[in-house]
Amino acid sequence: MQGTNVRSMLQYCSVCKDHFDMEVVQQGSNEKTIWLKCPGCQGFLPRSEEEDENAILQEVVQKQTGDILLEDLDIESAKEYSENDVYEIGDVIHHRSWNDFGKVIAKDHLPGNRKTIWARFLRQGKVQLLEGMK
Ligand SMILES: [Zn+2]
Repeated sequence: MQGTNVRSMLQYCSVCKDHFDMEVVQQGSNEKTIWLKCPGCQGFLPRSEEEDENAILQEVVQKQTGDILLEDLDIESAKEYSENDVYEIGDVIHHRSWNDFGKVIAKDHLPGNRKTIWARFLRQGKVQLLEGMK
């Protein structure tokens, strides 16, 4: 085991317009503000410790209403994502490039009658992916 003490927090990014599990990149010993790094836009967001109580409550609500947790996913049955395949809502998929697991939450279309799925990934969050391109 490495002794690395990497903390992360669920935080909303107003640039990406989504929630991410963000790495805490800096925490001064006397500072009230901690900095989080957004994995979506690579930006840094300040977060005040004073907001923590509310933030934790929001985090709980968010987890109940949308976000998925690793234990929610049946990784054993995950399908390798390919834009050539077709998926059903509830399917667990693995995205090889991101090495991330997600669950299909909706089906959608793009202009040109291209079929897509919306999936919520553990790390990437909510993502729209092509399907049935074959
Ligand atoms: Zn962002």
